[in-house]
This record gives sequence, structure tokens and C-alpha cells, in this order.
Amino acid sequence: MIGVLGGGQLGTFFTIAAKQLGYRVSVWDPDPEAPAHAWADLSIPSDFKDTQSLQVFIKENKAATYEWENIPLELVKAIESECPVHPGSAVLSRLQNRLSEKEFLSKHRFPHTSYLPILKKEALASAGMELGFPFICKTSTAGYDGIGQWFLKNEEDVGELIAGLKPRKTGWIAEKVVPFIKELSILVARNEQGDVVTYPITENKHEAGILRYCNVPANVPLSVSQRASALASAVLKALDGIGLFCIELFLLEDECFLINEIAPRPHNSGHLTLDVASTSQYEQQVRAVCGLPLENPALLSPALMVNLLGDDIKVLKKEGLLKKLLSLPGIKIYDYRKQEITPRRKMGHITVTGSDPQQLSERAKAVRLILNQAKK
Ligand code: AMP
Repeated sequence: MIGVLGGGQLGTFFTIAAKQLGYRVSVWDPDPEAPAHAWADLSIPSDFKDTQSLQVFIKENKAATYEWENIPLELVKAIESECPVHPGSAVLSRLQNRLSEKEFLSKHRFPHTSYLPILKKEALASAGMELGFPFICKTSTAGYDGIGQWFLKNEEDVGELIAGLKPRKTGWIAEKVVPFIKELSILVARNEQGDVVTYPITENKHEAGILRYCNVPANVPLSVSQRASALASAVLKALDGIGLFCIELFLLEDECFLINEIAPRPHNSGHLTLDVASTSQYEQQVRAVCGLPLENPALLSPALMVNLLGDDIKVLKKEGLLKKLLSLPGIKIYDYRKQEITPRRKMGHITVTGSDPQQLSERAKAVRLILNQAKK
């Protein structure tokens, strides 16, 4: 039995991949409605502080991982004292905090955005002078999908933010706004033996800080994807990370890139690998966590993914819609079966595949048309 902390869509696909390889899987997520519980051999729907559940989790599992970096660090430390957890607590603690993540990148001279640590909110007042406007303020910990982030255009915005911010023990960071031409992400896995594999680079489009569309392979020169792959491997070695990671990159006009974030887990942009990679990111995570050989993944076809956020999922349930969508070739539909619909929540996704970019774009257009008509 192997265990996963967190039971959202990433934990669900991990669970399915592990079961396919013959493992039994325990899922620990405090939310009893987290979708991965339905796929688990052992479901633990209790608080992460529950010591009895901790004992069960340790006793039952031979190895463990997680689907989200914002799980309690203390929990990972407690588990790994008796059961290996990958990525381990040293890696997690570095990446849970944006400031220590940036310090790691600086120390190893990996390219990253210019930033300033903001320990007291009043320090934001001079950040505009130092970084220039506009700049972004982000909470050091616990932010995701644009939550805990503020885009500051001028002194007035800064004044308003300072007035409204509650003090935080872990503070914030201020980041220069990067004039990127593309946002890219690259999946990379490393096992205990030190083998590293990387995936073809993906291009991502966000709306209001949340991932909306991805396509693979990204429309970038070969030299860019080769450099991204070398960078991702170097980052994992420097981190001494074991597991499946995703590195988010900003591509600049001059074809240099900056690392935005390192996620120590599968990534929503990697859902595409379920359908068009010879080994999905989830199976690769299982392989890395269990000390199995990694596969250097081949891309089987170009693909595009649309995230279904909030009410988008309701459209899928409309009479006849599934039939209409599935009458198109190369369409895969995923409903995460989350009970509660909230406005920006990731509820599902649609993957469109095509033998070449032209066919892919025609199929994507047809999907968009059906979805837009159904929304009316
Ligand atoms: P993050 O939570 O840091 O991944 O940020 C979410 C999204 O906000 C990113 O994918 C970008 O679209 C945008 N963003 C974050 N940081 C910056 C930055 N320094 N410059 C420009 N855009 C940013």
C-alpha cells in the first residue's frame, strides 16, 4: 500500500495510476468529499493533526507522497521518520515558502524573477521604488491560483494594500512584473537512483491567475525546449528532489527564461500526459516514489487542454451535450466529481488531441463552439 496526502484531482489520478500498477492506495484528506476517497483502498477523511490517523497511515503504507505543497510540514516530518515520503520534508520546506524557494534559486544561480522579501507590510511602501511599478505582492506561504497575490500599479494601490493587509508571521515577497511572451511548464521526475526524465514543454494560458488552457508541445524553438529540459534536470539535482515535479517558466522576448515556481507534485498542466504521453505524470510519480525505473516519456500526439472551472462543469450535464462532444474525434472528458461548485474551482478538464497542429486547432474550435452554444 502507498499513501497520498490530499485527495483532489491530482491525488485521484495518482491513485488510479498506482492501482493500475497493482498497488493498494490510502488517501488522507480531511475533506470527506475529496474525490480521491472514492478510489481509495483505505480512505482517511480526518484532520491532518489527528494522531490516530497518523499511526494508521504510517503502519499501512510502504511509501507516501502528496498532491499539494500546502500540506503541514510537521505531518510530512512525522510520517517520514517511519515511512519514506517523496519529495521529502527538506525539499518541501524549501518550496513551501516563496522566499526560501527564491533563495534556493539565487544560491544556485538559476534564473528567476527579481524579488524583495517583505517581512513587515510597511516595507511594501519602498518596494515600488526598488523594483519599479507595476509589481506583484505575494504571500510567502499558502498562496495558489492567484490567491494571496496583489498586482500593484502605483503608490495608491500600495497604500490601500498596506491598510488592508493583516500581519503574517511568514510575511510576503514583492516581485517585479515580468514582461513574458509565453508561460511554459515542464514536468521532471527523479528517482532514488538519481535518474532524471523530463517531459515535452507545455505552453499555458492563465486567466485571473488561474490556469485555463495548455497545449503541448509548446510552440517554441527546439533550442528553448532543450534548455528548459537541461534547466529542469539541474534544478532537481540541486534540490536533491525525488518524485515528480513541475517547473513553471516565463519565456522572455530574447528567448531566455525565468523560473516562476517549482511545484513538488504533478501539475494541472500535466493532465495532458494522461492521453498523449507514453507514461503519464501520475504513473511517473508512482514510479519515482516507489523506486521503480522511470520512462523517458514520448509524446504520442499534440494536444490541447481546457480547464473546466466552476459553473463550466454544469454545461457538461446539459441534455445531449456529452453526446455532442463525444461525437467529435479525439476528445477526452474528465469530470473530477467534486460535490461543491465554487466560482474558480477546478471541476474537470477536456483534452483535445490531433495528429498535427492544424487538425488540433480545428477540433478545438469545434469544442469551443459546442461549449459556447451550451452556455447561452
Ligand atoms: P503564481 O501563483 O506565482 O504561479 O502566479 C500565478 C500567475 O500569475 C502566473 O502564472 C502568471 O500568469 C502571473 N504572475 C505571477 N508572478 C508574476 C510575475 N512576477 N510577473 C508577471 N506575471 C506573474
